[in-house]
Amino acid sequence: MVASRTGSYKKPLPVIHPDNEPYWAALKNHELRLQRCTDCNTLRYPVSPVCWKCLSEAADWEKLSGKGTLRSWIVVEAATGNPAWSEDIPYVVALVDLAEGPRLTTNVVETDPYSLTYGMPLEIVFADVTDEVTLAKFKPAS
Ligand SMILES: [Zn+2]
Repeated sequence: MVASRTGSYKKPLPVIHPDNEPYWAALKNHELRLQRCTDCNTLRYPVSPVCWKCLSEAADWEKLSGKGTLRSWIVVEAATGNPAWSEDIPYVVALVDLAEGPRLTTNVVETDPYSLTYGMPLEIVFADVTDEVTLAKFKPAS
């Protein structure tokens, strides 16, 4: 993914707040980190101020492998809503199961959208879309 440092990024950006700031800061440093509950060891996703399993507020931000598996996807072939996506058509919106468990909704990039297969191994791509925001996308594993 080519980094865009021009400030011309037109797609919606995440709302960064104290609860999710470590997630976005890690991506900016080209690391994928999620909260691991220090009471019951559950990996939390989406980011949350409390553990969905035991309701503990205690967690560490664990660095993950960036490896995943393609579980489901669509190829978007027509512009809808925000025209900022028009130039990306066709593009892939996918569900990716991280090697560590959580399932992310993301994009699969740097490949022919019609070449994807169920269960294919993927690896993270850090898409620097602005000076402040890096998105977690995936590509076929090398
Ligand atoms: Zn917990």
